[in-house]
Amino acid sequence: MKKELIFLGPPACGKGTQTSKLAEYMNFPHVDTGSLLRAAVKNKTPEGIEAESYMSKGKLVPVEVVAAIIKRRLSESDCSNGYVLDGFPRSLEQAQMLEQINKETDTEKAEFRAIYFDIDTELLIERIVNRKSCPKCGEIYNMKFKAPKDGVHCDKCKAELTQRKDDTEEIARARFETYYNETAPLTKYYEDKGVLRNIDANGTIEEVWERLLKAVND
Ligand code: AMP
Repeated sequence: MKKELIFLGPPACGKGTQTSKLAEYMNFPHVDTGSLLRAAVKNKTPEGIEAESYMSKGKLVPVEVVAAIIKRRLSESDCSNGYVLDGFPRSLEQAQMLEQINKETDTEKAEFRAIYFDIDTELLIERIVNRKSCPKCGEIYNMKFKAPKDGVHCDKCKAELTQRKDDTEEIARARFETYYNETAPLTKYYEDKGVLRNIDANGTIEEVWERLLKAVND
């Protein structure tokens, strides 16, 4: 049966690392709205030009822009058996939009699950300001907790690591506010529908990974 997996949790809760790994493990595409939007900004597409001013303030990009990007991506053939959707939905309006998109693109019955990364939030700002990633393979590092071997380049593909423009303390605080106001209410929405699974996202990458696999397969 087609599996539709979405993920909820505050910025830097570890979703990106875990969902990339999960997508590879399940052989599903990793659809990440943040990365799709950053690519649109970089390529100066009309959607990217509109998105940039919101992203630089830590606000949600207007729903029509994100929904158009997501609809296009979820309609591609590699999503037909399932997908790992990271960063969407982020508001009740987007959740309803996703239901509509799924209705339009599903050719068979699908199993839908929302997985919530439950984490202590005190250390997350520190995680964000120390975060860097590889522009080539997407591997995520942390200059304090998981630094690359030479301190500069990706261990895997040797590209020089870069920092996201919105990974500053000021923008991170705005992203948290946006998360609590607009995205956090989604946990109740999905709980009421009986599709929510909570995982304890505190701990090592390996510990969280084991819990994630259980939540996906139970
Ligand atoms: P992320 O990489 O998931 O932290 O997202 C980075 C930024 O992209 C967010 O702070 C938002 O400005 C924008 N963004 C990502 N996903 C969405 C979405 N589903 N709706 C609106 N804006 C989004």
